[in-house]
Amino acid sequence: MTSFQSPSGTKDWLYPESEHMAYLVESFKSHVELANYGLILSPMFEDLGVFVRGVGDVSELVTKEMYEFVDKGGRKLALRPEGTASVMRAFLQHNPPVPFKAWYVAPSFRYERPQAGRYRQHHQVGLEAIGTDDPGLDLEIISILFDWLTSLGLGNLSLKLNCLGDTNCRPAYLELLYSYLEKNQKFLCKEHMERWSVNPLRVLDCKKPECVAIKEDAPKINKHLCPDCKLHFETLLAALDTAEIPYLLDDYLVRGLDYYMRTTFEVASLSLESAQNAVGGGGRYDNLALALGGNNTPGIGFASGLERVLLACEKEGVVFPLDYGPSVFVIDLIGGHKAGELTMTFRRAGVACDRSFDNRSLKSQLRQADKSRAKLALIVGEREKQNNSLQLKWLDANMRERFSAFLADFLDSYVVSESDDLSTMKSYSGKSYSGENKDYTEQYQISNTLPTDMAIRAIKEFFK
Ligand SMILES: [Zn+2]
Ligand SMILES: [Zn+2]
Repeated sequence: MTSFQSPSGTKDWLYPESEHMAYLVESFKSHVELANYGLILSPMFEDLGVFVRGVGDVSELVTKEMYEFVDKGGRKLALRPEGTASVMRAFLQHNPPVPFKAWYVAPSFRYERPQAGRYRQHHQVGLEAIGTDDPGLDLEIISILFDWLTSLGLGNLSLKLNCLGDTNCRPAYLELLYSYLEKNQKFLCKEHMERWSVNPLRVLDCKKPECVAIKEDAPKINKHLCPDCKLHFETLLAALDTAEIPYLLDDYLVRGLDYYMRTTFEVASLSLESAQNAVGGGGRYDNLALALGGNNTPGIGFASGLERVLLACEKEGVVFPLDYGPSVFVIDLIGGHKAGELTMTFRRAGVACDRSFDNRSLKSQLRQADKSRAKLALIVGEREKQNNSLQLKWLDANMRERFSAFLADFLDSYVVSESDDLSTMKSYSGKSYSGENKDYTEQYQISNTLPTDMAIRAIKEFFK
């Protein structure tokens, strides 16, 4: 026992719950590799400026929620609050060929009030594709997110889309929005009454009833797009139709970060409570490279919070195809050397195998085998040692049946290929061998004990 606890707002993931996270990452990896995205590993902390200039110093993420610190060399650093700014910083630093298509899995840090489903350290998977503003890439990114979530078994998904304009058309729109909000500021929610002018777009995102009422009549960006933005967005919508990906247009989808331009999107799980139901979201950040001091380079990406995705899977009763525990658990009653030898043999053959330590009693070792969720316990005691045999105790009834069907064929071929062993088998069984494979096969099929070599070969082949 220790008086230390994990820091407020964080969570320890222990086995087997952690396996669900690992499964999500594994499935994400194989999904994005189909589209030729490669892994990027970037530092968990960056120069503070990467986020202040990249994410924007009026974003709440930067003003209120960032973990900032000064290191021993006096550098101002911050733990990454999100993934995109770091990836863009790495892109600008290394200048890889474009389109640069990268995926990541990393923790993100936000100093938020701890509450259910929100962590100060949470885990994200994400994609970034940098170097082109082709709307075909928007389709690629959105469809990967949507298809991945669908492939997990989530059915209750809703994709929302908006176009936020670009440096060409957004400034004029923001002026319209600004003067509309200025006229109506006294009707806004408490927070926005004071802060609306810092980031007028955020008012469109506000869920408070006061702001909801005001934003209904506010000017909408998609009515004020320049021809280029309009064409870009319409091309994307047509492509989504062709790909049969259903979407809803959402005038209020502005997302929290300042770097988003043109396409923004969010996938919500309707199985979750509406205030926290986004299971993935992202958009274009065609201005981010400039903000970080690089050449103008368009890009688009998304991130998905694994804790949130897991919650949605739980709500929808999604069962992951996970196989817990080792295949074999060796129970050694003669001192542990045999356990060491056998576990090594199986592991080297690619069969997951575990054992107990400390020379425990049979009962205690069996309990451990059960807890480990092994399918098969292999018992070596004094009698087995003398007979050079192993006792098989199936802990999984399903597997026992499959094994006995498997054993019939296995023994047939084993007897033919290993006729040298026949004398050993005769002496082991204590009966004279009839000369026909059939009798021999039947004899072992009903027995729980097999000669050691035969058992090892059979088990290896069965679990292969
Ligand atoms: Zn508000
Ligand atoms: Zn535009």
